[in-house]
Amino acid sequence: MSGTTQVAIVGAGPYGLAAAAHLRSANVDFRVFGKAMESWERHMPAGMLLRSYWDGSHISDPRGDLTLDRYQRALGVQLPRPVRRDDFINYGQWFQRKAASELDGRRVTRIEAASKCFRVMLEDSESVWAQRVVIATGIASFAWRPRQFEAVPPALASHSSDHCDLGRFAGQRVVVVGGGQSALESAALLHESGATVEVIVRAPEIHWLRYGTRLHTWLHNQSNPFRRILYPPSDIGPPGLNWIVDTPDLFRRLPLAVHSRIERRAIRPAGAGWLRPRMNGVRITTGRVIISANLVGQQVRLKLDDGTERWVDHIFLATGYHVDISCCAFLAPDLVRSLRLVNGYPELSAGFEASLPGLHFLGAPAAGTFGPLMRFVAGTKYAASALTRSIVGQATNLATSQVASHEWDGLAQTPDT
Ligand SMILES: Cc1cc2nc3c(=O)[nH]c(=O)nc-3n(C[C@H](O)[C@H](O)[C@H](O)COP(=O)(O)OP(=O)(O)OC[C@H]3O[C@@H](n4cnc5c(N)ncnc54)[C@H](O)[C@@H]3O)c2cc1C
Repeated sequence: MSGTTQVAIVGAGPYGLAAAAHLRSANVDFRVFGKAMESWERHMPAGMLLRSYWDGSHISDPRGDLTLDRYQRALGVQLPRPVRRDDFINYGQWFQRKAASELDGRRVTRIEAASKCFRVMLEDSESVWAQRVVIATGIASFAWRPRQFEAVPPALASHSSDHCDLGRFAGQRVVVVGGGQSALESAALLHESGATVEVIVRAPEIHWLRYGTRLHTWLHNQSNPFRRILYPPSDIGPPGLNWIVDTPDLFRRLPLAVHSRIERRAIRPAGAGWLRPRMNGVRITTGRVIISANLVGQQVRLKLDDGTERWVDHIFLATGYHVDISCCAFLAPDLVRSLRLVNGYPELSAGFEASLPGLHFLGAPAAGTFGPLMRFVAGTKYAASALTRSIVGQATNLATSQVASHEWDGLAQTPDT
């Protein structure tokens, strides 16, 4: 069996779902592949709270009918803030039922460029031919594991994205590597689950964000006149820089050297202020680098750059993600070769279109062009609107009904390999 569509959206996280909502309202024919909010269920820990502010956590739809506020109203309850991971997953799945009810839960296993279209192969060997493909597959596949942990098997040196249940570490000695929100929150959750935890951070100190402090809550109050001046809804980065981050079109026009400076400052590793009290009982070692990690029996021996050692049961790598599109397993190699990449990120046009016409990237891979906003749910509004404008604007007259043209017939007969 096979099918055709004008736009195939790969991934049903916040970006794929927002794209679906916007394309639907523009009457664009599309299909969405993947399970709704799967990354949040499988790659983020139970008990996690969103670091992003309520106003920066709405998945975008064109009329604002599917915000967290609307979801809360539909439930008839007031959701706690910060937003809990489980509430956010339920919200995303509610959004999906409203905006992309015909979601196809199958995984995409391969995407190939064909003449005037793309062949999208699914896990059960079916293929769909699409005029355009929107890759919205998130960051989980770009998890970064530093070299010094290569000698330890993944079962004992895992990445934070490998887990959704930290309860399995109860009673173990765990070293968490990293100083960002994911490291610190995982450390708190591990500690609360009964593990003995040490966080080892390369930086000389932990940066704590004011989020959740009284001053920040007061400044963010809807009735505060300073709120609109200091904080855009996304609130990524310090005041001033947060407005540049909130304006991806401006970011895109800035020189590359400025891009990396803004990125470094706006999303430097930091923990939300509300996490601090939960860190009591967690040992934090700053300014130290782990230079080697080796398996000795069932334990892991870590050597630090100050000559000290740690013996632990598990290393928890909260070491972040490095986007590199050339490592995307489901993109055919010749398709990847035809993309212009900068530091692993695809170069994108204003409509989020790569150098290969018809191929679009949303979410973290778009951060290379549009900046840090694309790493957060708050970026769905800009991204889905720009994508839709571009697709509608460029629409050729190749309607889905015409797809069974001579050329496409030929492709449809291509045997599955
Ligand atoms: C620990 C952690 C905490 C975070 N906290 C926040 C926060 O508080 N606020 C915030 O705004 N952002 C947060 N983020 C960033 C968050 O990942 C993004 O904001 C958001 O999930 C991006 O949406 P997305 O659709 O691009 O990616 P994802 O949410 O990752 O969705 C991608 C989807 O694509 C699917 N997929 C992947 N490959 C395939 C395939 N081959 N076929 C079909 N489907 C596929 C996945 O299963 C997944 O469902 C956090 C990230 C992490 C890791």
